[in-house]
Amino acid sequence: MRGLLVFATLFVAALCRETFVGDKVLRIIPKNEAQLSFLKSMEDMPEIDVWRGVTEVGIPVDIRVPVQHLPVVKVHLQSQDIQHSTMIEDLQVLLDEEQEGMESAARFAEPRNTDSFDYSNYHTLSELHQNCVGAEPDSQTVASFQIYSFQDMLVAENPSLVSKIVIGQSYQGRALNVLKVREAGFLISSVRTEFSTGGSKRPAIWIDTGIHSREWVTQASGTWFAKKIVTDYGKDPALTAILNKMDIFLEIVTNPDGFYYTHNNNRMWRKTRKPNPGSSCVGVDPNRNWDAGFGGPGASGSPCSETYRGTRAHSESEVKSIVDFVKAHGNIKAFISIHSYSQMLLYPYGYTRTPVKEQAELHSLAKKAITDLASLYGTYYRYGSIINTIYQASGGTIDWTYNQGIKYSYTFELRDTGRYGFILPANQILPTARETWLALMTIMNHTFKNPY
Ligand SMILES: [Zn+2]
Repeated sequence: MRGLLVFATLFVAALCRETFVGDKVLRIIPKNEAQLSFLKSMEDMPEIDVWRGVTEVGIPVDIRVPVQHLPVVKVHLQSQDIQHSTMIEDLQVLLDEEQEGMESAARFAEPRNTDSFDYSNYHTLSELHQNCVGAEPDSQTVASFQIYSFQDMLVAENPSLVSKIVIGQSYQGRALNVLKVREAGFLISSVRTEFSTGGSKRPAIWIDTGIHSREWVTQASGTWFAKKIVTDYGKDPALTAILNKMDIFLEIVTNPDGFYYTHNNNRMWRKTRKPNPGSSCVGVDPNRNWDAGFGGPGASGSPCSETYRGTRAHSESEVKSIVDFVKAHGNIKAFISIHSYSQMLLYPYGYTRTPVKEQAELHSLAKKAITDLASLYGTYYRYGSIINTIYQASGGTIDWTYNQGIKYSYTFELRDTGRYGFILPANQILPTARETWLALMTIMNHTFKNPY
């Protein structure tokens, strides 16, 4: 019966969903500076959705082009003699496959504990209140994600190791949950410091996934990381030593409104879901909304852009809640914000060419982390500062955290390099999470061994 209900729910949800039949993802490799600046000027065309932005000559640019806009975009490219190849022939085919995978996984019983949770699949919402009317149901009925129940199960199973902190609410009222992992023996003192306002908090590591909602492999990996931390604590000497001295904070669904929307309305949604006054376009890019070079080049002032920065820094509660948390905590030593795709490990800055003071250390640590990552399956990552490795981007998360004094501020772009892009098949979740974990451990270990 339950299986039927789930199936019916998925079917109803499917009717609400935007489809992408015939949409293509094109890859363009700019050959010279002229092509580069032309492509740059195309980035805000409403006809296209940039999957992988313009960086430098010879580095691929991926754009999704809805089927009805293909002719005009192709003419545009041809006018400058710019060649392209097709990475994804028909986006809807991949989305249907992804959906079938989730539906067959949903036919199994709801996991009763975190051991039976299916880490190798993407997860839908767990509640059955989805409807098409008004497209976005009110917040009261949509609060529980499968990932949310996973978090609660993990806390219930490991009460002395894991706790859940609600650091705020999303625009639509969903809880912004952060899992806090701290060494068991510190339970009493940890509870006490939780409510203190002084600088007595233990040094900590922050990890977030899913601030861009369509980057599904990141939330899936974050779920796996949470379980991995609990499983390895007491077994892996390195992690155990870290947790003896430090706390780990993990926000898995950092943009829950967007995440909900990717499941029920538009799989390609990236931004928050707050309406923009005076515009029919919704949402702000939560990775351009931070008070670090806010409003500078590398973010858009147009509400319809996928990189819209918002009207002011920290206008998005999803961002502001982290800002408040980081400031109130005051002792976070590493901050790792996880995105996909394109396989890169990046450190500040994005908004300015001025190198960070510890550039040499951050660079060599990034190199070590991606070397360890590659040791598992040979996955190749590029690395460097944001502005030198991808492009100028202002108002980004880790520029702000670095400026707050968090030296080890990094951002990952997980798999792949564009074959599937944001629609990474579920059978790559576990390999992605496993290899990324090695790099995370390298950064966490370095942070632990180099107190500052
Ligand atoms: Zn992203």
